[in-house]
Amino acid sequence: MDTKFKRNFSIIAHIDHGKSTLADRLLQITNTVSEREMKEQLLDSMDLEREKGITIKAQAVTLFYDAKDGNRYELNLIDTPGHVDFIYEVSRSLAACEGALLVVDAAQGVEAQTLANVYLALENDLEILPVINKIDLPAADPEKVKEEIETVIGLDTDEAVLTSAKSGIGIEELLEEIVKKVPSPSGKPESPLKVLIFDSHFDDFRGVITYVRIVEGTLKKGDKLRIWSTGKDIEVLECGIFSPIMKPQNELTAGSVGYIISGIKSIQDTRIGDTIFNPKNPIEEPLEGYRPAQSMVFAGIYPISTEDYEDLREALEKLQLNDASLSFTPETSTALGFGFRCGFLGLLHMEIIVERLRREYNIDLISTTPSVEYRIHMENGEIKIIDNPAEFPIVGKKAVEEPYIKGTVITPKDYVGNVMELCQEKRGIYVDMQYLDETRTMITYELPLAEIVLDFYDKLKSKTKGYASFEYEMIGYKESKLVKVDILVSGEPVDAFSFICHSDNAYYRGRAITEKLKDVIPRQMFEIPIQAALGSKIIARETIRAYRKNVLAKCYGGDISRKKKLLEKQKQGKKRMKQIGNVEIPQEAFISVLKLD
Ligand code: GDP
Ligand code: MG
Repeated sequence: MDTKFKRNFSIIAHIDHGKSTLADRLLQITNTVSEREMKEQLLDSMDLEREKGITIKAQAVTLFYDAKDGNRYELNLIDTPGHVDFIYEVSRSLAACEGALLVVDAAQGVEAQTLANVYLALENDLEILPVINKIDLPAADPEKVKEEIETVIGLDTDEAVLTSAKSGIGIEELLEEIVKKVPSPSGKPESPLKVLIFDSHFDDFRGVITYVRIVEGTLKKGDKLRIWSTGKDIEVLECGIFSPIMKPQNELTAGSVGYIISGIKSIQDTRIGDTIFNPKNPIEEPLEGYRPAQSMVFAGIYPISTEDYEDLREALEKLQLNDASLSFTPETSTALGFGFRCGFLGLLHMEIIVERLRREYNIDLISTTPSVEYRIHMENGEIKIIDNPAEFPIVGKKAVEEPYIKGTVITPKDYVGNVMELCQEKRGIYVDMQYLDETRTMITYELPLAEIVLDFYDKLKSKTKGYASFEYEMIGYKESKLVKVDILVSGEPVDAFSFICHSDNAYYRGRAITEKLKDVIPRQMFEIPIQAALGSKIIARETIRAYRKNVLAKCYGGDISRKKKLLEKQKQGKKRMKQIGNVEIPQEAFISVLKLD
Protein backbone atom coordinates (compact mmCIF):
# COMPACT_ATOMS: atom_id res chain seq x y z
CA MET A 1 0.00 0.00 0.00
CA ASP A 2 1.16 3.53 -0.81
CA THR A 3 2.55 5.22 2.32
CA LYS A 4 0.12 8.09 1.86
CA PHE A 5 -2.65 5.69 2.88
CA LYS A 6 -0.91 4.60 6.08
CA ARG A 7 -1.44 6.02 9.54
CA ASN A 8 0.48 4.95 12.64
CA PHE A 9 -0.86 6.02 16.00
CA SER A 10 -0.92 5.21 19.69
CA ILE A 11 -3.60 5.65 22.25
CA ILE A 12 -2.43 7.38 25.40
CA ALA A 13 -4.43 8.11 28.51
CA HIS A 14 -4.52 8.01 32.24
CA ILE A 15 -5.32 4.54 33.57
CA ASP A 16 -9.00 3.54 33.28
CA HIS A 17 -9.93 6.38 30.96
CA GLY A 18 -10.83 3.81 28.31
CA LYS A 19 -7.85 3.20 26.00
CA SER A 20 -8.28 -0.54 25.74
CA THR A 21 -12.04 -0.34 25.32
CA LEU A 22 -11.60 2.22 22.58
CA ALA A 23 -9.07 -0.03 20.87
CA ASP A 24 -11.65 -2.84 21.00
CA ARG A 25 -14.24 -0.64 19.28
CA LEU A 26 -11.77 0.30 16.55
CA LEU A 27 -11.04 -3.38 15.92
CA GLN A 28 -14.71 -4.15 15.80
CA ILE A 29 -15.89 -1.37 13.51
CA THR A 30 -13.13 -2.14 10.99
CA ASN A 31 -14.03 -5.86 11.10
CA THR A 32 -10.49 -6.71 12.18
CA VAL A 33 -12.04 -9.23 14.51
CA SER A 34 -15.41 -10.87 14.10
CA GLU A 35 -18.20 -10.36 16.59
CA ARG A 36 -17.60 -13.88 17.81
CA GLU A 37 -13.88 -13.39 18.48
CA MET A 38 -14.50 -10.16 20.28
CA LYS A 39 -13.89 -10.34 23.99
CA GLU A 40 -13.56 -7.30 26.11
CA GLN A 41 -10.20 -5.58 26.15
CA LEU A 42 -8.93 -7.88 23.47
CA LEU A 43 -5.48 -6.38 23.37
CA ASP A 44 -4.89 -7.12 27.04
CA SER A 45 -3.94 -10.69 26.28
CA MET A 46 -1.70 -11.56 29.19
CA ASP A 47 -3.66 -13.29 31.97
CA LEU A 48 -2.26 -10.97 34.58
CA GLU A 49 -3.35 -7.96 32.57
CA ARG A 50 -6.89 -9.20 32.52
CA GLU A 51 -6.86 -9.96 36.19
CA LYS A 52 -5.44 -6.63 37.23
CA GLY A 53 -7.39 -4.81 34.54
CA ILE A 54 -4.31 -3.00 33.34
CA THR A 55 -2.27 -3.03 30.18
CA ILE A 56 1.31 -4.07 30.79
CA LYS A 57 2.80 -4.73 27.40
CA ALA A 58 2.21 -2.42 24.50
CA GLN A 59 0.49 -4.28 21.67
CA ALA A 60 0.34 -3.57 17.98
CA VAL A 61 -2.46 -4.26 15.57
CA THR A 62 -3.15 -3.37 11.93
CA LEU A 63 -6.64 -2.26 10.87
CA PHE A 64 -7.96 -1.51 7.40
CA TYR A 65 -10.45 1.30 7.17
CA ASP A 66 -12.52 2.34 4.17
CA ALA A 67 -12.75 6.08 4.65
CA LYS A 68 -15.45 8.42 3.41
CA ASP A 69 -13.01 9.76 0.77
CA GLY A 70 -13.32 6.39 -0.97
CA ASN A 71 -9.81 5.23 -0.09
CA ARG A 72 -8.75 2.26 1.97
CA TYR A 73 -6.30 3.11 4.77
CA GLU A 74 -3.90 0.93 6.72
CA LEU A 75 -4.08 2.01 10.36
CA ASN A 76 -1.45 0.73 12.73
CA LEU A 77 -2.62 1.03 16.29
CA ILE A 78 -0.26 0.57 19.19
CA ASP A 79 -1.93 0.23 22.56
CA THR A 80 0.13 1.48 25.49
CA PRO A 81 0.12 0.82 29.22
CA GLY A 82 -1.09 3.58 31.54
CA HIS A 83 0.64 2.85 34.84
CA VAL A 84 3.59 5.01 35.79
CA ASP A 85 5.88 1.98 36.10
CA PHE A 86 5.46 1.30 32.41
CA ILE A 87 6.12 4.73 31.01
CA TYR A 88 9.11 3.19 29.24
CA GLU A 89 6.84 0.96 27.18
CA VAL A 90 4.85 4.02 26.26
CA SER A 91 7.86 5.92 25.02
CA ARG A 92 8.88 2.95 22.85
CA SER A 93 5.46 2.68 21.29
CA LEU A 94 5.35 6.37 20.57
CA ALA A 95 8.61 6.24 18.64
CA ALA A 96 6.90 3.97 16.10
CA CYS A 97 4.04 6.45 15.46
CA GLU A 98 3.21 9.80 13.91
CA GLY A 99 0.11 10.47 15.94
CA ALA A 100 -1.49 9.85 19.32
CA LEU A 101 -5.07 9.76 20.48
CA LEU A 102 -5.16 11.44 23.84
CA VAL A 103 -8.09 9.87 25.63
CA VAL A 104 -9.53 11.81 28.58
CA ASP A 105 -12.43 10.60 30.68
CA ALA A 106 -15.30 13.10 30.33
CA ALA A 107 -16.25 12.70 33.99
CA GLN A 108 -12.72 12.70 35.47
CA GLY A 109 -10.82 15.22 33.39
CA VAL A 110 -7.07 15.54 33.05
CA GLU A 111 -5.13 13.35 35.48
CA ALA A 112 -1.46 13.10 36.42
CA GLN A 113 -0.69 10.44 33.82
CA THR A 114 -2.53 12.30 31.10
CA LEU A 115 0.09 15.00 31.52
CA ALA A 116 3.04 12.60 31.66
CA ASN A 117 1.88 10.90 28.46
CA VAL A 118 1.34 14.17 26.64
CA TYR A 119 4.87 15.27 27.43
CA LEU A 120 6.18 12.01 25.97
CA ALA A 121 4.08 12.43 22.83
CA LEU A 122 5.36 15.98 22.41
CA GLU A 123 8.96 14.78 22.85
CA ASN A 124 8.33 12.38 19.98
CA ASP A 125 6.81 15.15 17.79
CA LEU A 126 3.49 13.39 17.49
CA GLU A 127 0.27 14.94 16.29
CA ILE A 128 -2.04 14.74 19.30
CA LEU A 129 -5.78 14.24 18.79
CA PRO A 130 -7.81 14.93 21.93
CA VAL A 131 -10.59 12.36 22.45
CA ILE A 132 -13.12 12.91 25.21
CA ASN A 133 -14.42 9.50 26.20
CA LYS A 134 -17.24 8.16 28.39
CA ILE A 135 -19.66 10.88 27.28
CA ASP A 136 -22.45 8.39 28.07
CA LEU A 137 -21.81 8.81 31.81
CA PRO A 138 -24.33 10.99 33.66
CA ALA A 139 -21.44 12.85 35.28
CA ALA A 140 -19.77 13.55 31.92
CA ASP A 141 -18.95 17.21 31.35
CA PRO A 142 -17.15 17.39 27.99
CA GLU A 143 -17.10 21.20 27.88
CA LYS A 144 -15.36 21.45 31.22
CA VAL A 145 -12.86 18.76 30.22
CA LYS A 146 -12.15 20.56 26.95
CA GLU A 147 -11.41 23.72 28.87
CA GLU A 148 -9.12 21.81 31.19
CA ILE A 149 -7.20 20.30 28.26
CA GLU A 150 -6.77 23.79 26.83
CA THR A 151 -5.59 25.44 30.03
CA VAL A 152 -3.53 22.64 31.57
CA ILE A 153 -2.08 21.04 28.44
CA GLY A 154 -2.42 23.86 25.95
CA LEU A 155 -3.98 21.75 23.18
CA ASP A 156 -6.66 23.14 20.90
CA THR A 157 -9.87 21.19 21.54
CA ASP A 158 -12.17 22.77 18.93
CA GLU A 159 -12.07 19.56 16.95
CA ALA A 160 -11.80 17.12 19.85
CA VAL A 161 -13.82 13.97 19.17
CA LEU A 162 -16.46 13.02 21.73
CA THR A 163 -16.77 9.26 22.19
CA SER A 164 -18.28 6.57 24.25
CA ALA A 165 -16.05 3.56 23.76
CA LYS A 166 -18.52 1.55 25.77
CA SER A 167 -21.61 2.27 23.69
CA GLY A 168 -19.78 2.85 20.41
CA ILE A 169 -20.53 6.56 19.97
CA GLY A 170 -18.18 8.67 17.86
CA ILE A 171 -15.96 5.81 16.68
CA GLU A 172 -16.50 6.38 12.95
CA GLU A 173 -15.89 10.09 13.41
CA LEU A 174 -12.68 9.30 15.27
CA LEU A 175 -11.44 7.11 12.40
CA GLU A 176 -12.10 9.97 9.98
CA GLU A 177 -10.12 12.33 12.20
CA ILE A 178 -7.20 9.88 12.33
CA VAL A 179 -7.13 9.68 8.54
CA LYS A 180 -7.35 13.48 8.26
CA LYS A 181 -5.01 14.60 11.05
CA VAL A 182 -2.34 11.97 11.65
CA PRO A 183 0.49 12.56 9.15
CA SER A 184 1.32 9.70 6.80
CA PRO A 185 4.79 8.18 7.32
CA SER A 186 7.59 9.90 5.44
CA GLY A 187 9.62 6.80 4.45
CA LYS A 188 9.85 5.51 0.87
CA PRO A 189 9.49 1.87 -0.17
CA GLU A 190 12.40 2.19 -2.64
CA SER A 191 14.92 3.65 -0.13
CA PRO A 192 17.57 1.46 1.54
CA LEU A 193 15.91 -0.57 4.26
CA LYS A 194 15.74 0.81 7.80
CA VAL A 195 13.71 -1.14 10.30
CA LEU A 196 13.12 -0.12 13.91
CA ILE A 197 12.84 -2.92 16.48
CA PHE A 198 10.29 -1.60 18.96
CA ASP A 199 9.52 -4.78 20.82
CA SER A 200 10.21 -8.49 20.75
CA HIS A 201 8.71 -11.58 22.14
CA PHE A 202 10.01 -15.08 22.74
CA ASP A 203 7.94 -17.96 21.48
CA ASP A 204 8.90 -21.48 22.55
CA PHE A 205 8.32 -22.90 19.09
CA ARG A 206 9.28 -20.12 16.70
CA GLY A 207 12.04 -18.41 18.61
CA VAL A 208 12.27 -14.69 18.77
CA ILE A 209 9.43 -12.72 17.21
CA THR A 210 10.55 -9.18 16.52
CA TYR A 211 8.03 -6.33 16.40
CA VAL A 212 9.10 -3.84 13.78
CA ARG A 213 8.24 -0.57 12.17
CA ILE A 214 9.55 -0.30 8.62
CA VAL A 215 10.88 3.23 8.56
CA GLU A 216 12.45 3.16 5.08
CA GLY A 217 12.48 0.66 2.23
CA THR A 218 10.88 -2.73 1.71
CA LEU A 219 11.42 -5.98 3.56
CA LYS A 220 10.65 -9.33 1.91
CA LYS A 221 10.38 -12.88 3.02
CA GLY A 222 13.74 -14.56 2.39
CA ASP A 223 15.76 -11.32 2.71
CA LYS A 224 19.14 -11.66 4.35
CA LEU A 225 19.46 -8.75 6.75
CA ARG A 226 21.76 -7.50 9.47
CA ILE A 227 21.23 -6.03 12.92
CA TRP A 228 23.15 -2.78 13.32
CA SER A 229 24.61 -2.86 16.81
CA THR A 230 25.48 -6.55 17.03
CA GLY A 231 26.33 -7.08 13.36
CA LYS A 232 24.35 -10.30 13.55
CA ASP A 233 23.04 -11.66 10.21
CA ILE A 234 19.47 -12.84 10.04
CA GLU A 235 17.18 -14.28 7.40
CA VAL A 236 13.54 -13.29 7.21
CA LEU A 237 11.78 -16.67 7.47
CA GLU A 238 8.42 -14.99 7.86
CA CYS A 239 7.12 -11.45 8.00
CA GLY A 240 3.62 -10.21 8.58
CA ILE A 241 1.15 -8.00 10.38
CA PHE A 242 -0.85 -8.31 13.59
CA SER A 243 -4.48 -8.70 12.79
CA PRO A 244 -4.51 -9.00 15.82
CA ILE A 245 -3.08 -12.55 15.51
CA MET A 246 0.02 -12.87 13.33
CA LYS A 247 -0.84 -12.90 9.64
CA PRO A 248 2.03 -13.66 7.21
CA GLN A 249 2.66 -11.29 4.28
CA ASN A 250 5.07 -11.45 1.35
CA GLU A 251 6.53 -8.07 2.16
CA LEU A 252 6.33 -5.11 4.50
CA THR A 253 6.92 -1.63 3.12
CA ALA A 254 7.90 1.76 4.51
CA GLY A 255 5.46 3.04 7.09
CA SER A 256 4.08 -0.37 8.05
CA VAL A 257 4.16 -2.05 11.44
CA GLY A 258 4.43 -5.82 11.80
CA TYR A 259 6.67 -8.69 12.82
CA ILE A 260 9.66 -10.69 11.61
CA ILE A 261 10.55 -14.26 12.46
CA SER A 262 14.16 -14.98 11.67
CA GLY A 263 14.95 -18.13 13.57
CA ILE A 264 16.91 -16.22 16.21
CA LYS A 265 17.06 -18.38 19.27
CA SER A 266 19.32 -16.30 21.42
CA ILE A 267 17.38 -13.54 23.03
CA GLN A 268 20.36 -11.23 23.39
CA ASP A 269 20.47 -10.66 19.63
CA THR A 270 17.44 -8.43 19.18
CA ARG A 271 17.84 -5.32 21.19
CA ILE A 272 14.83 -3.08 21.38
CA GLY A 273 15.55 0.26 19.75
CA ASP A 274 18.07 -1.31 17.37
CA THR A 275 18.01 -0.94 13.57
CA ILE A 276 17.81 -3.76 11.00
CA PHE A 277 19.20 -3.08 7.51
CA ASN A 278 20.09 -4.87 4.31
CA PRO A 279 23.86 -5.29 3.84
CA LYS A 280 23.34 -5.39 0.03
CA ASN A 281 22.04 -1.86 0.19
CA PRO A 282 23.77 -0.47 3.25
CA ILE A 283 22.85 2.58 5.28
CA GLU A 284 25.15 5.17 6.78
CA GLU A 285 23.47 5.66 10.12
CA PRO A 286 21.13 3.67 12.31
CA LEU A 287 17.79 5.03 13.49
CA GLU A 288 17.73 6.89 16.72
CA GLY A 289 17.32 4.27 19.45
CA TYR A 290 15.46 4.68 22.69
CA ARG A 291 16.79 6.06 25.87
CA PRO A 292 17.43 2.89 27.83
CA ALA A 293 15.02 2.05 30.61
CA GLN A 294 16.29 2.91 34.03
CA SER A 295 15.74 0.50 36.88
CA MET A 296 14.44 2.31 39.93
CA VAL A 297 13.81 -0.49 42.37
CA PHE A 298 16.10 -3.44 43.13
CA ALA A 299 15.51 -6.67 44.99
CA GLY A 300 17.05 -10.10 45.33
CA ILE A 301 15.05 -13.00 43.91
CA TYR A 302 15.91 -16.47 45.20
CA PRO A 303 14.50 -19.88 44.37
CA ILE A 304 13.14 -21.69 47.40
CA SER A 305 14.76 -24.87 46.27
CA THR A 306 18.31 -24.64 44.94
CA GLU A 307 17.54 -27.00 42.03
CA ASP A 308 15.43 -24.24 40.51
CA TYR A 309 18.36 -21.86 40.11
CA GLU A 310 19.04 -22.60 36.43
CA ASP A 311 15.31 -22.55 35.65
CA LEU A 312 15.07 -19.17 37.30
CA ARG A 313 17.92 -17.83 35.20
CA GLU A 314 16.27 -19.07 32.01
CA ALA A 315 12.91 -17.64 33.02
CA LEU A 316 14.46 -14.25 33.76
CA GLU A 317 16.21 -14.32 30.38
CA LYS A 318 12.94 -15.00 28.63
CA LEU A 319 11.08 -12.33 30.53
CA GLN A 320 13.85 -9.89 29.73
CA LEU A 321 13.35 -10.39 26.03
CA ASN A 322 9.85 -9.02 26.31
CA ASP A 323 10.81 -6.49 28.87
CA ALA A 324 14.02 -4.61 28.30
CA SER A 325 13.49 -2.76 31.54
CA LEU A 326 14.09 -5.87 33.65
CA SER A 327 17.73 -6.32 34.63
CA PHE A 328 19.37 -9.08 36.65
CA THR A 329 22.79 -10.26 37.83
CA PRO A 330 23.67 -13.29 39.96
CA GLU A 331 24.13 -12.71 43.67
CA THR A 332 24.53 -14.79 46.79
CA SER A 333 23.02 -14.26 50.17
CA THR A 334 24.17 -16.07 53.27
CA ALA A 335 20.53 -16.45 54.25
CA LEU A 336 19.01 -17.35 50.92
CA GLY A 337 21.78 -18.96 48.91
CA PHE A 338 22.15 -18.40 45.16
CA GLY A 339 19.80 -15.99 43.43
CA PHE A 340 19.65 -12.87 41.32
CA ARG A 341 19.70 -9.17 42.02
CA CYS A 342 16.96 -7.75 39.81
CA GLY A 343 16.24 -4.18 38.75
CA PHE A 344 12.67 -3.02 38.16
CA LEU A 345 10.92 0.14 37.03
CA GLY A 346 8.79 0.24 40.15
CA LEU A 347 6.95 -1.90 42.65
CA LEU A 348 4.07 -2.88 40.38
CA HIS A 349 6.62 -3.99 37.81
CA MET A 350 8.38 -6.08 40.46
CA GLU A 351 5.12 -7.61 41.65
CA ILE A 352 4.22 -8.58 38.10
CA ILE A 353 7.60 -10.16 37.34
CA VAL A 354 7.56 -12.17 40.57
CA GLU A 355 4.02 -13.30 39.86
CA ARG A 356 4.88 -14.32 36.30
CA LEU A 357 7.89 -16.31 37.50
CA ARG A 358 5.57 -18.16 39.84
CA ARG A 359 2.72 -18.73 37.45
CA GLU A 360 4.22 -19.06 34.02
CA TYR A 361 7.47 -20.71 35.01
CA ASN A 362 6.33 -22.53 38.12
CA ILE A 363 9.21 -21.39 40.27
CA ASP A 364 8.71 -20.99 43.99
CA LEU A 365 10.69 -17.99 45.08
CA ILE A 366 11.46 -15.45 47.75
CA SER A 367 12.13 -11.81 47.07
CA THR A 368 13.98 -9.53 49.43
CA THR A 369 12.84 -6.06 50.54
CA PRO A 370 13.03 -3.74 47.55
CA SER A 371 15.67 -1.05 47.64
CA VAL A 372 16.66 1.95 45.53
CA GLU A 373 20.17 2.82 44.34
CA TYR A 374 22.25 4.75 46.87
CA ARG A 375 25.38 6.73 46.19
CA ILE A 376 27.94 6.63 48.97
CA HIS A 377 30.83 9.09 49.16
CA MET A 378 33.70 7.48 51.04
CA GLU A 379 36.28 9.36 53.07
CA ASN A 380 38.98 8.23 50.64
CA GLY A 381 37.17 9.99 47.78
CA GLU A 382 35.71 6.84 46.27
CA ILE A 383 32.03 6.84 45.27
CA LYS A 384 30.19 3.57 45.81
CA ILE A 385 26.88 2.87 44.11
CA ILE A 386 24.87 0.22 45.88
CA ASP A 387 21.37 -1.14 45.61
CA ASN A 388 21.76 -3.90 48.16
CA PRO A 389 21.73 -3.20 51.91
CA ALA A 390 24.34 -5.96 52.32
CA GLU A 391 26.88 -3.73 50.56
CA PHE A 392 26.25 -0.69 52.74
CA PRO A 393 29.65 0.19 54.27
CA ILE A 394 29.68 0.47 58.05
CA VAL A 395 32.79 2.64 58.36
CA GLY A 396 34.57 5.19 56.21
CA LYS A 397 31.45 6.93 54.86
CA LYS A 398 31.51 10.68 54.36
CA ALA A 399 28.03 11.18 52.95
CA VAL A 400 25.17 9.11 51.58
CA GLU A 401 22.90 10.29 48.78
CA GLU A 402 19.58 8.87 47.72
CA PRO A 403 17.50 9.35 44.55
CA TYR A 404 14.75 11.96 44.58
CA ILE A 405 11.74 12.33 42.34
CA LYS A 406 9.46 15.19 41.48
CA GLY A 407 5.97 13.92 42.19
CA THR A 408 2.79 15.50 40.85
CA VAL A 409 -0.50 14.76 42.54
CA ILE A 410 -3.84 15.87 41.12
CA THR A 411 -6.55 15.71 43.75
CA PRO A 412 -10.00 17.06 44.55
CA LYS A 413 -9.69 20.15 46.75
CA ASP A 414 -11.11 18.42 49.82
CA TYR A 415 -8.10 16.13 50.11
CA VAL A 416 -5.33 18.70 49.72
CA GLY A 417 -4.64 18.58 53.47
CA ASN A 418 -4.37 14.79 53.51
CA VAL A 419 -2.07 14.74 50.50
CA MET A 420 0.26 17.33 51.98
CA GLU A 421 0.32 15.48 55.28
CA LEU A 422 1.27 12.26 53.51
CA CYS A 423 4.02 13.95 51.47
CA GLN A 424 5.40 15.53 54.61
CA GLU A 425 5.36 12.18 56.42
CA LYS A 426 7.31 10.72 53.50
CA ARG A 427 10.04 13.34 53.91
CA GLY A 428 8.72 15.42 51.01
CA ILE A 429 9.84 18.95 50.14
CA TYR A 430 6.98 21.20 49.03
CA VAL A 431 7.45 22.75 45.59
CA ASP A 432 4.22 24.13 44.20
CA MET A 433 0.43 24.11 44.20
CA GLN A 434 -1.83 25.02 41.31
CA TYR A 435 -5.61 25.14 40.92
CA LEU A 436 -6.83 23.32 37.80
CA ASP A 437 -10.42 24.52 38.25
CA GLU A 438 -12.79 25.23 41.15
CA THR A 439 -12.67 21.65 42.36
CA ARG A 440 -9.24 20.24 41.65
CA THR A 441 -5.68 21.00 42.67
CA MET A 442 -2.29 19.98 41.38
CA ILE A 443 0.38 19.63 44.08
CA THR A 444 4.08 19.15 43.44
CA TYR A 445 6.59 17.78 45.93
CA GLU A 446 10.13 16.48 45.80
CA LEU A 447 10.29 13.13 47.54
CA PRO A 448 12.87 10.41 48.19
CA LEU A 449 12.23 7.60 45.73
CA ALA A 450 12.70 5.06 48.53
CA GLU A 451 9.58 6.41 50.24
CA ILE A 452 7.59 6.19 47.03
CA VAL A 453 8.44 2.65 46.05
CA LEU A 454 7.08 1.03 49.15
CA ASP A 455 3.53 2.14 49.73
CA PHE A 456 3.10 5.79 48.77
CA TYR A 457 0.63 5.07 46.00
CA ASP A 458 -1.59 2.85 48.17
CA LYS A 459 -1.58 5.41 50.96
CA LEU A 460 -2.37 8.23 48.58
CA LYS A 461 -5.33 6.29 47.23
CA SER A 462 -6.68 5.54 50.69
CA LYS A 463 -6.23 9.12 51.91
CA THR A 464 -8.12 10.53 48.92
CA LYS A 465 -10.77 7.83 48.61
CA GLY A 466 -9.15 6.82 45.35
CA TYR A 467 -9.59 10.21 43.71
CA ALA A 468 -6.00 11.42 43.53
CA SER A 469 -3.73 10.58 40.63
CA PHE A 470 0.04 10.54 40.87
CA GLU A 471 2.95 10.70 38.52
CA TYR A 472 6.68 11.16 39.02
CA GLU A 473 9.99 11.69 37.32
CA MET A 474 13.54 11.29 38.59
CA ILE A 475 15.33 14.53 39.40
CA GLY A 476 18.64 13.29 40.79
CA TYR A 477 20.38 12.60 44.08
CA LYS A 478 20.29 14.44 47.40
CA GLU A 479 22.23 13.86 50.59
CA SER A 480 20.31 12.18 53.42
CA LYS A 481 20.97 10.82 56.88
CA LEU A 482 20.73 7.15 55.98
CA VAL A 483 21.57 4.14 58.06
CA LYS A 484 21.50 0.39 57.64
CA VAL A 485 19.44 -1.67 60.04
CA ASP A 486 20.32 -5.36 60.50
CA ILE A 487 17.93 -7.97 61.74
CA LEU A 488 19.41 -10.77 63.84
CA VAL A 489 17.71 -14.08 64.38
CA SER A 490 19.28 -16.06 67.22
CA GLY A 491 22.16 -13.64 67.15
CA GLU A 492 22.88 -14.15 63.46
CA PRO A 493 22.26 -11.34 60.99
CA VAL A 494 19.86 -12.37 58.23
CA ASP A 495 21.03 -10.39 55.22
CA ALA A 496 17.70 -10.75 53.43
CA PHE A 497 15.98 -8.73 56.16
CA SER A 498 18.46 -5.83 56.32
CA PHE A 499 17.30 -2.48 55.04
CA ILE A 500 18.52 1.06 54.57
CA CYS A 501 16.38 3.88 55.91
CA HIS A 502 16.46 7.42 57.22
CA SER A 503 17.94 7.51 60.72
CA ASP A 504 14.74 9.06 62.10
CA ASN A 505 12.81 5.96 61.05
CA ALA A 506 15.33 3.28 62.04
CA TYR A 507 13.95 2.63 65.49
CA TYR A 508 10.32 2.50 64.42
CA ARG A 509 10.95 0.26 61.41
CA GLY A 510 13.30 -2.00 63.31
CA ARG A 511 10.66 -2.54 65.97
CA ALA A 512 7.92 -3.13 63.42
CA ILE A 513 9.94 -5.86 61.72
CA THR A 514 10.92 -7.66 64.91
CA GLU A 515 7.28 -7.64 66.02
CA LYS A 516 6.15 -8.98 62.70
CA LEU A 517 8.78 -11.72 62.64
CA LYS A 518 7.81 -12.80 66.12
CA ASP A 519 4.36 -13.57 64.79
CA VAL A 520 5.36 -15.37 61.62
CA ILE A 521 8.31 -17.49 62.74
CA PRO A 522 6.91 -20.58 64.43
CA ARG A 523 8.12 -21.54 67.87
CA GLN A 524 10.95 -24.02 67.84
CA MET A 525 12.54 -26.25 70.39
CA PHE A 526 14.69 -23.45 71.79
CA GLU A 527 14.24 -19.78 72.54
CA ILE A 528 14.84 -17.45 69.57
CA PRO A 529 15.76 -13.81 70.12
CA ILE A 530 14.93 -11.49 67.23
CA GLN A 531 16.80 -8.22 67.26
CA ALA A 532 17.16 -5.10 65.18
CA ALA A 533 20.60 -3.53 65.25
CA LEU A 534 22.23 -0.30 64.14
CA GLY A 535 25.83 -1.39 63.77
CA SER A 536 26.53 -3.06 67.11
CA LYS A 537 23.72 -1.25 68.92
CA ILE A 538 20.53 -3.24 69.49
CA ILE A 539 17.50 -1.00 68.94
CA ALA A 540 14.67 -3.51 69.24
CA ARG A 541 14.21 -7.03 70.56
CA GLU A 542 11.52 -9.69 70.66
CA THR A 543 11.75 -13.27 71.85
CA ILE A 544 10.05 -16.35 70.51
CA ARG A 545 9.67 -18.76 73.40
CA ALA A 546 10.73 -22.38 73.13
CA TYR A 547 8.07 -24.89 72.25
CA ARG A 548 8.12 -28.54 71.46
CA LYS A 549 5.82 -29.22 68.60
CA ASN A 550 4.72 -32.83 68.88
CA VAL A 551 2.40 -33.45 66.00
CA LEU A 552 1.99 -37.08 66.97
CA ALA A 553 0.55 -36.30 70.38
CA LYS A 554 -2.89 -35.99 68.87
CA CYS A 555 -2.84 -39.56 67.55
CA TYR A 556 -3.80 -41.79 70.40
CA GLY A 557 -2.95 -45.40 69.98
CA GLY A 558 -1.74 -47.09 66.92
CA ASP A 559 -3.24 -45.59 63.78
CA ILE A 560 -0.02 -45.82 61.80
CA SER A 561 -1.35 -44.50 58.52
CA ARG A 562 -2.64 -41.38 60.17
CA LYS A 563 0.68 -40.82 61.88
CA LYS A 564 2.44 -41.24 58.55
CA LYS A 565 0.15 -38.71 56.97
CA LEU A 566 0.87 -36.17 59.66
CA LEU A 567 4.59 -36.67 59.38
CA GLU A 568 4.30 -36.33 55.62
CA LYS A 569 2.40 -33.11 56.04
CA GLN A 570 4.98 -31.75 58.40
CA LYS A 571 7.70 -32.56 55.89
CA GLN A 572 5.81 -30.71 53.18
CA GLY A 573 5.56 -27.70 55.43
CA LYS A 574 9.31 -27.84 55.92
CA LYS A 575 10.00 -27.39 52.24
CA ARG A 576 8.69 -23.88 52.53
CA MET A 577 11.21 -23.05 55.23
CA LYS A 578 14.68 -21.61 54.98
CA GLN A 579 17.21 -22.86 57.48
CA ILE A 580 19.13 -19.91 58.90
CA GLY A 581 21.72 -21.04 61.41
CA ASN A 582 19.69 -23.35 63.59
CA VAL A 583 16.39 -21.57 62.98
CA GLU A 584 13.84 -22.38 60.34
CA ILE A 585 12.20 -19.32 58.84
CA PRO A 586 9.07 -19.75 56.75
CA GLN A 587 8.72 -18.15 53.36
CA GLU A 588 5.90 -15.96 54.66
CA ALA A 589 8.36 -14.24 56.98
CA PHE A 590 10.27 -12.84 54.04
CA ILE A 591 7.10 -11.71 52.36
CA SER A 592 5.54 -10.21 55.47
CA VAL A 593 8.55 -7.98 55.99
CA LEU A 594 7.82 -6.49 52.57
CA LYS A 595 4.30 -5.69 53.53
CA LEU A 596 5.21 -3.67 56.58
CA ASP A 597 3.28 -0.41 57.06
P1 GDP B 1 -7.63 1.76 30.13
O1 GDP B 1 -7.03 1.53 31.46
O2 GDP B 1 -7.47 3.18 29.69
O3 GDP B 1 -7.22 0.77 29.09
O4 GDP B 1 -9.22 1.62 30.36
P2 GDP B 1 -10.20 0.44 29.97
O5 GDP B 1 -10.48 0.43 28.51
O6 GDP B 1 -9.69 -0.81 30.58
O7 GDP B 1 -11.53 0.96 30.68
C1 GDP B 1 -11.63 1.17 32.06
C2 GDP B 1 -13.09 1.04 32.49
O8 GDP B 1 -13.88 2.08 31.91
C3 GDP B 1 -13.72 -0.28 32.04
O9 GDP B 1 -14.54 -0.73 33.07
C4 GDP B 1 -14.54 0.12 30.83
O10 GDP B 1 -15.66 -0.71 30.64
C5 GDP B 1 -14.97 1.54 31.19
N1 GDP B 1 -15.19 2.37 29.99
C6 GDP B 1 -14.39 2.54 28.93
N2 GDP B 1 -14.94 3.38 28.03
C7 GDP B 1 -16.13 3.76 28.54
C8 GDP B 1 -17.19 4.63 28.07
O11 GDP B 1 -17.15 5.23 27.00
N3 GDP B 1 -18.26 4.78 28.91
C9 GDP B 1 -18.35 4.15 30.10
N4 GDP B 1 -19.44 4.35 30.83
N5 GDP B 1 -17.39 3.32 30.56
C10 GDP B 1 -16.29 3.12 29.80
MG1 MG C 1 -5.94 -0.88 29.17
